[in-house]
Amino acid sequence: MSTRGADVTKPYADIGVIGGSGFYSFLEEVTEVSVDTPYGAPSDSLFLGELAGRRVAFLPRHGRGHKVPPHRINYRANLWALRSVGVRQVLGPCAVGGLRPEHGPGTLLVPDQLVDRTKARAQTFFDGEPLPDGTTPNVVHVSFADPYCADGRRAVLKAARGRGWEPVDGGTMVVVEGPRFSTRAESRMHSAAGWSVVGMTGHPEAVLARELELCYTSMALVTDLDAGTETGEGVSHTEVLRVFGENVGRLRTVLSDAIGALPATMDRDCPCTRALDGWEPGIRLP
Ligand SMILES: [Zn+2]
Repeated sequence: MSTRGADVTKPYADIGVIGGSGFYSFLEEVTEVSVDTPYGAPSDSLFLGELAGRRVAFLPRHGRGHKVPPHRINYRANLWALRSVGVRQVLGPCAVGGLRPEHGPGTLLVPDQLVDRTKARAQTFFDGEPLPDGTTPNVVHVSFADPYCADGRRAVLKAARGRGWEPVDGGTMVVVEGPRFSTRAESRMHSAAGWSVVGMTGHPEAVLARELELCYTSMALVTDLDAGTETGEGVSHTEVLRVFGENVGRLRTVLSDAIGALPATMDRDCPCTRALDGWEPGIRLP
């Protein structure tokens, strides 16, 4: 196994997956690693292992047993922890509501745009607060016009097609604060704006990855049609879990194929790798 110059005495992975807790059973020879960060504790330990011939770190977004709600996730600690074990490319599978009738349950959408409608989440590492090591982050404004990695998106789209699961290529994910689902009026507003899916965790995950010069790609599995697009009872958690359960197998397969198709970390040549060019961060990235 090539460790690509990493310190072999340390746990190492160059691809990160932030997802539901059903995913790490896929990894081979899993090592559980507890990581602390200057921004506090991540949602859980990292689970490091091999998948599709690559070194992968898996982080259960909501912690084991799904204990952390979307608005309480320490997104900064999660991304920092992944980078600190060597991760440079992140895949973020998540469950979302469809905002268009044609994006029904079971649709896999690989968004190319994002709208932030969260309210109270720390969404930058560069907030002027000193870190425990005495350094203080400077003010940094990263480009976020294209929030997702083009290479990562290509890998996921190709992987899905290769498994006969025709994905939706592009679309806008609106991220709401939660933990409640949307009202019908909110949902109609999101649909009328032309957005495709609604989720609760896609932000600030994507922007924090960008601030650490990590590639980030979202894989959005539609588990329900949002309240404004149907006349029934609205979204129920039971239904979300049922549809997720039905699709988790093929989602893992596509995830594994996508991991195998990602460029080697040393070969990355996307703009994600230059997000901090021209800025003096003031802190040392892990
Ligand atoms: Zn990238």
